Amino acid sequence: MKLTRAFLIVSMLWSLTAVGATPVSIQNLRMWRAPDNTRLVFDLSGVAEYHVSALEGPDRVLVDFDKASFKGAVPEVEASNTLVTAVRDSRVDNDTVRFVFELKRAVKTRSFVLKPAGQYGHRLVVDLMDPQAEAEEAKAAAEETAPPPPVAPTSRVVMPKRREWVIAIDAGHGGKDPGAIGRQYRTREKDVTLAIALALARLVRDEPGMRPVLIRDGDYYVPLGRRFQRARQHRADVFVSIHADSMPGKKIAYGSSVYALSERGATHALARALADNENYADLVGGVSLNDKTSDVKRTLLDLSQEKTIEHSLQLGEDVLSELGQIGKIHSGRVAQANFAVLKSPDIPSVLVETAFISTPTEEKKLRDAQYQSQLASAVLKGLKRYLVRNSRFEMAPPAPEAPTARVHIVKNGETLNSIAKQYNVHIEVLRFINNLSDNRVSPGLRLRLPGAERES
Ligand SMILES: [Zn+2]
Repeated sequence: MKLTRAFLIVSMLWSLTAVGATPVSIQNLRMWRAPDNTRLVFDLSGVAEYHVSALEGPDRVLVDFDKASFKGAVPEVEASNTLVTAVRDSRVDNDTVRFVFELKRAVKTRSFVLKPAGQYGHRLVVDLMDPQAEAEEAKAAAEETAPPPPVAPTSRVVMPKRREWVIAIDAGHGGKDPGAIGRQYRTREKDVTLAIALALARLVRDEPGMRPVLIRDGDYYVPLGRRFQRARQHRADVFVSIHADSMPGKKIAYGSSVYALSERGATHALARALADNENYADLVGGVSLNDKTSDVKRTLLDLSQEKTIEHSLQLGEDVLSELGQIGKIHSGRVAQANFAVLKSPDIPSVLVETAFISTPTEEKKLRDAQYQSQLASAVLKGLKRYLVRNSRFEMAPPAPEAPTARVHIVKNGETLNSIAKQYNVHIEVLRFINNLSDNRVSPGLRLRLPGAERES
């Protein structure tokens, strides 16, 4: 293997077994794509020795396993993958299996191992992070949180200008994580949660003084830690994670439930996180929060957590009581559980189990667009009730009409990012309200801007 021209960026060796003589079989390779990263998961028969290297010219990442075998097939690369162009596997020598990921551009890598948890066995996770996409996201977020421009010195009255209520809407699961599967129609939870999230986002968008932020707006996976991070980047006032419940086996259950993070869960998680970062990833269901360790610690240590839980419970009760107006309630009280997705230090957060996808009658309803929007409007009513009821959340009068154009016609040389910047809106919002599947825009395209009425 000639690496003379290649530049070694990252090189890691994990030796996890003292003897390490048992050959490991690589059972499967899964690939998940999100806008700014691609996650590779190798399912393994046991603990493996591995080595990740990132090479330049052409850009690629190599993942080598010592004393290993692989008889499976490498996954096909979707054409829409923004990072990976091809995957190959090869045998370097009798002992070493190599996977080569050809890339469109250089990436940062991060890797870690997970012990068996739930349905999964030993895993090696390699994240390929796209610095370009990350920078764009960070930049967009920084712009959104930038302080308002200073008031002109001639102005004598300084009115604190109320920003919009930002509602972070998280469609549970996504991508290679389908969530629960319906028994009768094989409905995937990830599809139902996205449909309800989009319906809720539309309703929120139509409310004066409220703005939705979709944590995911398509069929891709977003790591749990990243979900609340995104909400925080957008300075969300509340966070709602949408799910559909399921019962194991043939058990039948009905109705909606709402969860808030439990204090015990937070404390327990804190202890675990501090004790063992690897275990922490297992604790949250095999999803890594490793990269966010310092953030998780800060999050959980934050004294405002307790206050946030209290607010989350209030928010949950408001949402639950509205859900009770349209259907059955599984449990009359807001349940508290240790969900990673709810661990935001400063944003009241709830997880809504809309109905039981495992119960055929409820599965059928969950597939119905009308029922989906009923659920969305019940959640919205709950959110509004909470925002109004709570003294912290005095409902602002509708924001005065912005003097900006309601429609933007794309000019030569403009990108969706530059337009988002110009109007100080997040690129995801532009994409969402204009039904764009990616960031490409061509000159002459008419883009709706947030707050704009539908064109008649
Ligand atoms: Zn779920």
